[in-house]
Amino acid sequence: MMKALIYEGPKQVAVRDIPKPVPQEGQALIRVDFCGICGSDIGIFSGTHPRAKAPLVMGHEFVGVVEEIRGEANGFRAGEKVVPYPLLSCGHCFACRNGREHVCDSLRIIGIDLDGGAAEYVCCQTDVLYRVPEQVSGKVAGITEPLAVAVHTLHRAGFRPMDRILIQGAGPIGTLVGTVAKHSGAARIIISDFDETRLAVSRKLGFETVNAGRENLTEYVRRATNGDGADIVFECTGAESAALEMTGPCRTDGMICLVGVHKAPRPVALADMHFRELNLTATRVYTKRDFEQAVELTRHISDDLEEIISHVVPLSDCANVFDLIHDPKETTAKVMVDCRR
Ligand SMILES: [Zn+2]
Ligand SMILES: [Zn+2]
Repeated sequence: MMKALIYEGPKQVAVRDIPKPVPQEGQALIRVDFCGICGSDIGIFSGTHPRAKAPLVMGHEFVGVVEEIRGEANGFRAGEKVVPYPLLSCGHCFACRNGREHVCDSLRIIGIDLDGGAAEYVCCQTDVLYRVPEQVSGKVAGITEPLAVAVHTLHRAGFRPMDRILIQGAGPIGTLVGTVAKHSGAARIIISDFDETRLAVSRKLGFETVNAGRENLTEYVRRATNGDGADIVFECTGAESAALEMTGPCRTDGMICLVGVHKAPRPVALADMHFRELNLTATRVYTKRDFEQAVELTRHISDDLEEIISHVVPLSDCANVFDLIHDPKETTAKVMVDCRR
């Protein structure tokens, strides 16, 4: 038997003892070290995720040590620390036939559509495993998956060194987009949010911050960029007010990239898009190449990633992790579950 964080229905999660999984042909049994909790897990918990069905072992952001391999090892050995690429594609739809497997029509994700890694053990195909760089701690390696989201986001937006960027939203994804941009040579990184404690974390990471509740974001960004506006605006909140605000600070022929998921239709100042010929793109998860780059990147930005982890909770006592995230008295950045405790 093993312990696992189980989604049992809307607003119902529990840590239960369930049978330890048995690796199938081509799979590795992984002893999980850490598992991150993210926005889509909050969606599952609240019962609004379109695909997740109870009962489900949660967790798609995990790192662990290979304990046993059955069949094709793909070069992996027991004892190696690994992170899995958690996306499963159908192989047949238009996206899959055209090298866009990560936006497969029937995309499935470990920990959302099938049992995940917020548990003591999990089984994964060996062909989706990536080795964690030696000097990177398990805790930091647990951020590889959301880091891959940030890497993909920069690629989608056509980021180039010396770009001046605005990031709306100082949550974990906004902060990670800023961290990758900093490492990739951004000339200026402005992060906006309404929450002063979140902005304080951003300042600690060296970003320029603006409280969008107190300042006019468009005016602030224009002042900061010689009147030009930002080369790229990354919308990482998914909030209605941010959708309305995202066009103003963007420069002529600049790029707006939707990162935070807008679950409802939003009013957008489309006239801004005409007059300055703005470009709009959106991102969803990451390709294998992005994931590979994120693994490599953990080696170089380990200290920054450490700053983004605000809470580590033991698996045995993590049933209230969503209360912690929703607690208005707590400022949570990245929350990690320690699956060894
Ligand atoms: Zn995630
Ligand atoms: Zn497909």
